[in-house]
Amino acid sequence: VDTATFSPIELQLSHLLLVGGRPCLDFCNTVEYRHSESPVEMLIGYRALIVWAHRAGLVSNTDATTLLTRIVDEEQVFLRALRLREAIYALIMAHLENRPVPTDALATLHGVWQTALDHRQVIYQNGQFSEAWAGALTPERILWMLALSAVHELTQETLRWVRPCPNCGWLFLDESRNHKRVWCNMQICGNRLKARRYYQRQKRSGGESL
Ligand SMILES: [Zn+2]
Repeated sequence: VDTATFSPIELQLSHLLLVGGRPCLDFCNTVEYRHSESPVEMLIGYRALIVWAHRAGLVSNTDATTLLTRIVDEEQVFLRALRLREAIYALIMAHLENRPVPTDALATLHGVWQTALDHRQVIYQNGQFSEAWAGALTPERILWMLALSAVHELTQETLRWVRPCPNCGWLFLDESRNHKRVWCNMQICGNRLKARRYYQRQKRSGGESL
């Protein structure tokens, strides 16, 4: 990929921290501070989607370059990507917070997942069976990969170890041995919040501010 042509937000996406542990969770993390007054949206268009998919390892360098130059129906794919992302996020959060699961979100995920399955095939090559995508690469395939990832995660026991970072709201799968991971990233959110609490304590006690 030619990063020289990247916009600032595309550059940011191309270095984005992948803390989720699963593609569908990292996909949800293309929005930061969801529950604050000013959420930060990083998925701002078709190009951003491709740059992120490359960063997340869903498409190769060559494929990303090809997809970035393609201008077929791109706005539609982008809008469907946003709808899918919000559906995945809504389903996970509803489950984690013991709320009724939104049926429209479930229908959205189901629709993309069904289409994804229609494009899978079993092949036999070099003495081995494997699953593969049928047909040529399209930008839609990124959505299909994410739907497969989401359905896989939603149906695993490990779903209970998915949680949002208390600072930035990013989702992650806590695969630590004792499942006590709190932050998406200790260096970034852990320290940032600790610093803020310290500052507030100082202010309350009338001490020196940081
Ligand atoms: Zn965080």
